Formats: sequence, structure tokens, C-alpha cells
Amino acid sequence: MNYNKKSVEDVEVRGKRVLCRCDFNVPTKEGKITSDKRIVAALPTINYLREHGARVILCSHMGKPKGEYKPELSLKVVADRLSELLGVKVRMAKDVAGEDAHRLASELQDGDVMLLENTRFEKGETKNDPELSKKLAELADIFVNDAFGTAHRAHSSTAGVADYLPAYCGYLIAKEVGIMGKALADPERPFVAILGGAKVSDKLNVINNLLEKVDTLIIGGGMAYTFLAAKGCKVGKSLLDAEKLDYCRDMMKKAEEKGVKLLLPVDTVVAKSFPDPIDGPVEVCTVAAEEIGDDVMGLDIGEKTRELFADAVKSAKTVVWNGPMGVFENPTLAKGTIAVAQALADSEAVTIVGGGDSAAACEQLGFADKITHISTGGGASLEFLEGLELPGIACLEDK
Ligand code: ADP
Ligand code: MG
Repeated sequence: MNYNKKSVEDVEVRGKRVLCRCDFNVPTKEGKITSDKRIVAALPTINYLREHGARVILCSHMGKPKGEYKPELSLKVVADRLSELLGVKVRMAKDVAGEDAHRLASELQDGDVMLLENTRFEKGETKNDPELSKKLAELADIFVNDAFGTAHRAHSSTAGVADYLPAYCGYLIAKEVGIMGKALADPERPFVAILGGAKVSDKLNVINNLLEKVDTLIIGGGMAYTFLAAKGCKVGKSLLDAEKLDYCRDMMKKAEEKGVKLLLPVDTVVAKSFPDPIDGPVEVCTVAAEEIGDDVMGLDIGEKTRELFADAVKSAKTVVWNGPMGVFENPTLAKGTIAVAQALADSEAVTIVGGGDSAAACEQLGFADKITHISTGGGASLEFLEGLELPGIACLEDK
């Protein structure tokens, strides 16, 4: 994939109607926004467009309305919050690309901002229906994508609309693609990738691509046990993707052939059962990776592994981390994740964190401002690392 994409700065926007896809998929409770982080994150692009005289038509999805109008998923709350943040009235369309949207769009003056209704109120959105893409395109002269979190989806408002309009990236996507694209295409070395978390089968695919790029690959968290099992260890009741054992063996072989150092846990924290509730009390002990009993499950990396992984991070110049090292939601099982987050925070390297839970862990643990880049897209950053083409980025004009 070409990571060198034209941005809002590479096109004249003055007097033009600009359809800007944002990520306003904000959490709400009883009709109130509980975190406006994503709205705040979109401000640089919106401000740039306004300051340069564009007529700004914002759009986003929120939740999963499945092609139907759902009052509780209306973006009206976002328009109100945006109005406060921008200090100007953001007009809210009653529909996505219907009559009301067209009327409001035609009334826009230079520097004005409006917001379309939740794109997923339209059935065509997630099907990337050309009819909807065309209707969206008719609202504007230029398309700007600034929603990295949905860039891996080929939907009408994330990619389809670019079939009918010249398309550019906003600052958020430019940053994501700039930092992660550089890490993949031309990293400062040593390049260390750390994988963990629970979505084992999803993430195993990333390994194949990362082995082409990295000097060291670290595998912890729920992913590690499938590898340990592939090496012949018993893993008891730990997470295991039994269908991927051969794949893991292939990956270990590939690592050896490529001279990539592959680090697996040497010890692990085990418990008799998964804590319930997840942050409730849990009785644990630490065992060597080869000595996991039949009646226990591995829920965090052990102390020796924490040191091993932190040491590998210490000498790195680029670090990519996706997926917690253990069930970090439980304080007893968070030590591995804290150790890795601490190692990244202490490192001088370019450090990149992707994945919803890993990002949340960094923030909860207070390490976020010591990380070079925390990706805003879980699934999108993973597909990026996998080397897949992201439709929402591939559709943008090349530089
Ligand atoms: P991310 O969102 O960062 O991509 P995932 O969604 O893949 O990460 O995984 C996060 C989850 O993995 C966390 O909820 C954590 O509790 C869980 N997890 C980590 N290690 C283990 C383990 N050994 N066994 C079971 N679950 C685990
Ligand atoms: Mg997750």
C-alpha cells in the first residue's frame, strides 16, 4: 500500500463544499456524551478547513443502528458539543444524504459547518452501496477522510464516496499513516513488535507480515499459549486456538529462517479459573511455561518474562505494541501489562500502541503521554500492521 497520501493541505478548499468523514462514534449514557475525546481529536482538521474558507459537511457513524433511524443514536448530541467546542453553530441535518442534508449544504457559507445524521441510519452505508455513495458525493466537491478507526471498512462514507469525489486525508489519518507507515516501510532498528491480547485468531495473521519487518517479535498475553502448545508445552485451560498450531510452527520456522528473534513467555501467572467478576479476587501462582498444570489457566506473564520482554524493549529504536500481556483489568493480573507499558514509556524509541484495550491500558496506567503514538483504531491498526490495504486510505489521492 502507498502510505504517501495527499492531505487537506494539498488542495484548495476555499469556497468548496468539503465532505469530511470523522470518527464521532462517542460513548453516550442516557443521551449524554460521556467522553468527547474523539470530537476533540477531530478539531484540527475541522479548524483547518474553516480557517481556509471551506464549507464543511461533517459525517460519521455512531453505534450500530443497522440501517434504521434510532433516536438514541442520533448525532444531534455531537452537533451540540461541536458547536460548543468550535464556538459556532453546527447545523444538524435531519437525514444522511436526503433532502434536508442537501438543503442545508446548499445554504452553507465559507467557514460554516454542518453535520449529517448517523451514516449507519442508511442501509447502504455498510454495504458500500454506490447509490448512497453517489448521494453523499452530490453534497460536496471534495472528500476528506479523517476517521482512522473505520478506515479498514469499505463503507459508503469511508471509501465508496471517493469513487465520485477527489479524496484527501485529514490530520488524524495523516498522523496514523505517517507514523505507522514509516515504522513498517523504513523503521529505525532494532524494530521490536509485541503482541498480546485475546483475539488470538485475528492477531495470528499479523505475525506473518511482522516477521518480514521486525528484528524481534515478542508474544505474550492470551496469544502466547497457542505458540507454547505448538512447541509441545501443555497449556491447561489457557486460551488456545487449536486450529492454528501448524500455523504457529510455520511462523516459528519463518522467524528462524529470517533471523528474527521470537520471544515467548518463560513463566506465567496461573489461576484455577478466570476471575469473576473480572476485577474480583483471584488466587494465583507463577509457574514455568513448560509446567502449566491441566487444571489451571495462564492469565499473565510471570516475573522472568517481564524482565525478558522489558530488556528487549530497552535496546529497540522502534516498538509496536498491540494487545495486553494479561488480564490487566484485574490488578493481580496487570503486572505484565504494566511492565511492558513502563518499558515503552521509559524507552527513547519511537513507540506505537495499537489496539483498543492496549491503548486503554496505557491511559488507565498513566503512560499515555510517554508513548509516541497511540493509534485511535483497534481493528484498523491491526490490519495496517498486517500489511493489508485499508479501503479508507487506499481511496485517497497519492502524493
Ligand atoms: P486489543 O484491544 O489491545 O487489541 P484484545 O482485544 O485482543 O487487545 O485483547 C484484550 C483482552 O485480552 C483483555 O480484555 C485481556 O483481559 C485479555 N487477555 C490478555 N491476556 C489474557 C490471557 N492470558 N487469557 C485470557 N485473556 C487475556
Ligand atoms: Mg480489544
